[in-house]
Amino acid sequence: KKRWLPGCASGNIITAVAMTEPGTGSDLAAIRTIAVKDGKDYVINGQKTFISNGINCDLVIVAVKTDTKAEPPFKGISLLCVEAGTPGFEKGRKLDKMGFHSQDTAELNFVDCRVPVANLLGEEGQGFFYLMKKLQGERLVTSIMAQSMAEAMLQMTIKYSRERTIFGKPISSFQHNTFKIVEMATEIELGRTFLDNLICDYIAGEDIVMKVSMAKAWIPEMANRVAYQCVQLHGGYGYMEEYPICRFARDVRVIPIFAGTTEGMKVIVGKMMGL
Ligand SMILES: Cc1cc2nc3c(=O)[nH]c(=O)nc-3n(C[C@H](O)[C@H](O)[C@H](O)COP(=O)(O)OP(=O)(O)OC[C@H]3O[C@@H](n4cnc5c(N)ncnc54)[C@H](O)[C@@H]3O)c2cc1C
Repeated sequence: KKRWLPGCASGNIITAVAMTEPGTGSDLAAIRTIAVKDGKDYVINGQKTFISNGINCDLVIVAVKTDTKAEPPFKGISLLCVEAGTPGFEKGRKLDKMGFHSQDTAELNFVDCRVPVANLLGEEGQGFFYLMKKLQGERLVTSIMAQSMAEAMLQMTIKYSRERTIFGKPISSFQHNTFKIVEMATEIELGRTFLDNLICDYIAGEDIVMKVSMAKAWIPEMANRVAYQCVQLHGGYGYMEEYPICRFARDVRVIPIFAGTTEGMKVIVGKMMGL
């Protein structure tokens, strides 16, 4: 905590969290990266992919299997802190993405990478539980991100469609378009109300697993519906980089995928509903 947390808080230490692997994303329990104890070290071998900040990171928290025989398998997962520059830890390709170009997403490789046992975060075999607990916060943040993008997209589209005149009238005044805008505004309002309520629950320290999974399943999908309609209302200009809606539409596409897919969220809610 003394060594890394102040730097994490000040921004001097850029962190990454490496769970996803080429062979598995949604099924975290199936990760293959292993860490074997050898004297005072763990020796890590494996590959990670799609890691945000993978290139820029100074410190990466790596989900590894410390017990490959654990039953159920998720009980064999632990979290290890690996500093950039550690021999055997290699930053791989910076991946070319559809959007989110301001943030790097990369592959990471671990070949006989030794880290001291002291780099274990928390207790061995508890990694899955730590991740499940803290991912609720990430899912809340990504839902907020999707919600605020939907709000911004609608605002810029209302402005554009009031200013753009076709057949002698602003396009917002064609009833079809008015209805589209009203439908989007309604969905956005529903999202905002649900999210505000959820944020209050989170601040109050309540268990938000079910509601945040619902939010993560619905709000990013809603934001993508909004993105599609907003580009459409911009016509050809919506496809041009000089109009911000173009970038928004590209960037928003990933939100139903990262931090737990829409389908993954529905699996969680379904289980909690006893289905
Ligand atoms: C830009 C970006 C940044 C990312 N950053 C990180 C990061 O920092 N750290 C990290 O560890 N990972 C990161 N990821 C990875 C991300 O979390 C995974 O892409 C995601 O978990 C899905 O895994 P996958 O891509 O392997 O898809 P898969 O797990 O192969 O899933 C493919 C499809 O099957 C669906 N599916 C899976 N299970 C079920 C089911 N039971 N029922 C129905 N459908 C199902 C999925 O929802 C998806 O639609 C990032 C990804 C992207 C694109």
